[in-house]
Amino acid sequence: MRASLRIAARILHQPRTAKATPRNLRRQRGFISGTTPQLRAHRRTHGQEGEEKEIGCAAQQPTTEEASDLFHETLKDIYFAENKIIKTLPKMAKAAQSKELTAAFNKHLKETQGQVKRLDQVFKIIGKPARGKPCEAINGITEEGAEIMKDFRGMPALDAGLLAAAQAVEHYEISRYGTLRTWAEQLGMSDAASLLQQTLDEEEATDHALSELATSVINLEAEEEHA
Ligand code: FE
Ligand code: FE
Ligand code: FE
Repeated sequence: MRASLRIAARILHQPRTAKATPRNLRRQRGFISGTTPQLRAHRRTHGQEGEEKEIGCAAQQPTTEEASDLFHETLKDIYFAENKIIKTLPKMAKAAQSKELTAAFNKHLKETQGQVKRLDQVFKIIGKPARGKPCEAINGITEEGAEIMKDFRGMPALDAGLLAAAQAVEHYEISRYGTLRTWAEQLGMSDAASLLQQTLDEEEATDHALSELATSVINLEAEEEHA
C-alpha cells in the first residue's frame, strides 16, 4: 500500500489492509461513510441521491476558460499588491534606522517598478487591460507594517519590526508569483511564465537579503543601542 494511502487509512480509522479498490479509495477519502463532514456538505448541495455519481465533482478539472479567469483574477490581485508596495516602500525606507535597511528598501522599490512593467506585459499577452483589484491580504500586511512604524518609532527594535513586515510582504508575493508562473505554464503561455519567473526570482532574492540583514546587522545594532 502506498504511504499516502496508509496515512489516509490511519486518519479515517480504516483497516490498513483494506484493498485499494475504487470504492475503498473513495471511502478512505471520506466520500462514502455515512458520517463525514464532506458527505454532509455534499448532501446539502447535491441531495442524497446519486452520491457516488456526483463524487466525480470533487475531482473535476477546470475548463481552460475557468483556468484563464482564475489566472486573470490573480494577476489583478498581484497588480494591486505591487502598486500598494510602491507606495509603502518609500515610507519604510524613510522610517528605517539602519542605512543598510534603507538601501535594501530603496533597491527593492526600483525592482518593484520593473515588476509592475512585467505585469503590464503579462496583461498584454492575455489581451486584458492592466488593472488591479483590491487585495485585502496586502492591505492587512502593510497595515501591520504601519502599526510597527508607529508603535516602535525611535526604538531600537524598529528595524527588526520593519524587516519582519517586509518579509511578510515578500512571502505573500512569492506565493502569488509561484502560483501564477505555474498556471501560465499550464495555460501554455511560456513568455508570461518566464516574466513571472523573473519577478519570482527577485522576490526570493529580496527575502533572502532581508533574512541576512535580520540576522547580522539589525540584531547587533539593537543590542548595541541597548548596551
Ligand atoms: Fe514585488
Ligand atoms: Fe490577494
Ligand atoms: Fe517584493
